[in-house]
Amino acid sequence: MTAEHPVTAEHPVTAEHPATTERPATTERPVTAERPVTAERPVTAERAVAGLIADRIVDVPDFPVAGIVFKDLTPLFADAAAFARTIDAIVARYGPDSFDVVAGIEARGFMIGAAVAYAAGVGFVPVRKAGKLPREAFSLTYALEYGEAALEVHADAFVAGQRVLVIDDVLATGGTAAAALTLVERAGGRIVGLSVLLELTFLDGRQRLSGYPVHALLTV
Ligand code: AMP
Repeated sequence: MTAEHPVTAEHPVTAEHPATTERPATTERPVTAERPVTAERPVTAERAVAGLIADRIVDVPDFPVAGIVFKDLTPLFADAAAFARTIDAIVARYGPDSFDVVAGIEARGFMIGAAVAYAAGVGFVPVRKAGKLPREAFSLTYALEYGEAALEVHADAFVAGQRVLVIDDVLATGGTAAAALTLVERAGGRIVGLSVLLELTFLDGRQRLSGYPVHALLTV
């Protein structure tokens, strides 16, 4: 695994990203400061955001296989104002002090989760598809509607008891989220909740997540 993924050589993070050290993100947060979302009543703000998301979802029939209507959220991600309000609504829902770290599920959970982590001033942990993580990882195989898949998280991703907000884009049958939540706990994290942009209620994913707080900005 390590030989296949010479991460240090491929990702000379320190050399390529000197700006990170020059930008004291935790003290300078001009964008967040200029968008006082918390002043808006959370429920009202969430309804408005649900509308923004609904208006920007494109239904793609028969993708990736016949019979599936794929919910394409890329127009939402590409819309700066709508994306920012979506992220702010998630942070406002939980409160920036209610979680210590965000775990995002590959791959769209990375986009949303990393933005939430930045907005809340916390770190980000990737829950990756099998074979991508370079160091010791916990792995869980789970059933999909057809076939199976596996998710992994670094064994040392969390400090024991750290409060983790888990994020993905769409909750469908719930298998992916259930595996991610189990992995986060196995790695020592304490689940604050699962947050998704869109829940497909007809697939009843929540019943596989009983005991976990699940929140969706939009349900269809
Ligand atoms: P699930 O069935 O809940 O395990 O969903 C599996 C993964 O596929 C989730 O991470 C979702 O983001 C994604 N997914 C499932 N169904 C759809 C859909 N109809 N449109 C877009 N993404 C989907």
